Amino acid sequence: MTGIVYLVGAGPGDPGLLTLRGAELLVTCDAVVFDALANPALLALANVAERETAVELHDVGKRGGAAESAKQDEINALLVRLGREGKRVVRLKGGDPLVFGRGSEEAQALAEAGVSFEIVPGVTAGIAAPAYAGIPVTHRGAATSVTFVTGHEDPTKDHTTVDWQALARAGGTIVLYMGVKTLPNIVAALIAGGMSSDTPAAAVQWGTHPRQRTVTATVSTLADAIREAGLTAPVITVIGLVVDLRGEIAWFDRRPLFGKRIVVTRAQAQASALTERLAAAGAEVIEMPATRIEPCDLAGLRDALGDIAAFDWIVFTSQNAVQVAWDALRAMGLDARAFAGVKIAAVGPMTADALLQRGLAVDVVPERFVAEGLLDALRSREDVRGARVLYVAGEGARETLERGLIGAGASVERVTAYRSVVDGTDADSLKTRLDRGDVDLATFTSASSVRAFVDLVGAERARRVPAASIGPITTEAARDAGLDVAIEAPTSTIDGLVEAIVESFASAGA
Ligand code: SAH
Repeated sequence: MTGIVYLVGAGPGDPGLLTLRGAELLVTCDAVVFDALANPALLALANVAERETAVELHDVGKRGGAAESAKQDEINALLVRLGREGKRVVRLKGGDPLVFGRGSEEAQALAEAGVSFEIVPGVTAGIAAPAYAGIPVTHRGAATSVTFVTGHEDPTKDHTTVDWQALARAGGTIVLYMGVKTLPNIVAALIAGGMSSDTPAAAVQWGTHPRQRTVTATVSTLADAIREAGLTAPVITVIGLVVDLRGEIAWFDRRPLFGKRIVVTRAQAQASALTERLAAAGAEVIEMPATRIEPCDLAGLRDALGDIAAFDWIVFTSQNAVQVAWDALRAMGLDARAFAGVKIAAVGPMTADALLQRGLAVDVVPERFVAEGLLDALRSREDVRGARVLYVAGEGARETLERGLIGAGASVERVTAYRSVVDGTDADSLKTRLDRGDVDLATFTSASSVRAFVDLVGAERARRVPAASIGPITTEAARDAGLDVAIEAPTSTIDGLVEAIVESFASAGA
């Protein structure tokens, strides 16, 4: 067993700035060791990957207490231990692992212990946060060099090792990490070294995150401007003529929905398209918590499976249905042989694959992977009229399939095998945000998405946030639930909805 530790740069926050190599390692590793600046979206990447056993997560974020160096020793020891256990470990570090990240110390510890490691560079905050604020770290004519410097000296040193005067004379861009508190002293040193006190300067808080905030000033007024704006760590400070470019090329915080916090309800497959469009317009998208599958009372399913030979067809409309039915079958001491002589239909290739994995090849998969498509495929066959069909459904499934099959002369027995339930902790964080007034809008793309939201957060909380609806039927459902529908899309499409939201915020801001 040979383990390996990957020192992976997570990038500055925007999950899209993780490297392909980093993403690949996150979805295949056995353990992740992360700290405070790691974006939860990246951890979700590691978690949702299909795996036999859940990924092992170690949060080593600083929470005060232990001295930093002791803490670092513990992290080193943890990495060595996991590596020696034969695990593939991702040590996820904000930005680039080797830029003010102590990644090289971790590499030293691993090298010393003889544990293999790899270094996967990341996008460092000192370049990315300015870029998202419209500030290039170099620019022809304005800066031909850039210095990355820490404002947080190693506390064990009793005097600064940074030659601020030399930096002041160098004339390039200065990018300061971890320097909010020390900024006034640093500025004094730079000005004493000959830097002009009206040199442009900017501070970028939470760069690349939807909550990014930027203040610009001069080097001598920046500390006050930061205090007035209430910026606190993490902040990148940029000093130099390049800061003036922001006026021309700011882009991230100029997008129409920048800073808006919008809930996307996930009752439909469309949700991810909506999430993408809203995020592209600059919104912070809060996705409704994912649901997980819970078997229903299985008596009906067991009866039907016990009598399976009496059916001509069995129909599965999701992988979940396959899973639950299979588990019930196994619990009854049966296996794939029980389906001998029964024809099998699946709604799409994923469901068909779930069946095949259990030794069951399907007879019918439609071209369109929805109930209507499956119905068409079945109706076009000769052997459906007069057939007895067992339909394993999820709670709340539409009646399309059942009605259509009955219309085609079949008799249908529907058993409700499972329901989707929401993970409590995720629901709590959404509730807390609603309670704090930390949400600007909730979007609804169907009547069922209204129901899902109200069920999840409770009617009273749901009413606290304005709603945007995709069309009249959804609006009616939302109004019936007592929601305040502030926006209705004039055309009932995802694009129509996003446009209506953008216009509404634009006119509110005007
Ligand atoms: N290895 C990291 C830096 C770690 S030091 C990297 O390469 O980016 C931590 C400091 O980085 C913070 O104090 C802050 O100055 C800066 N920082 C990290 N992420 C940031 C972000 N999203 N926005 C602004 N500053 C950030």
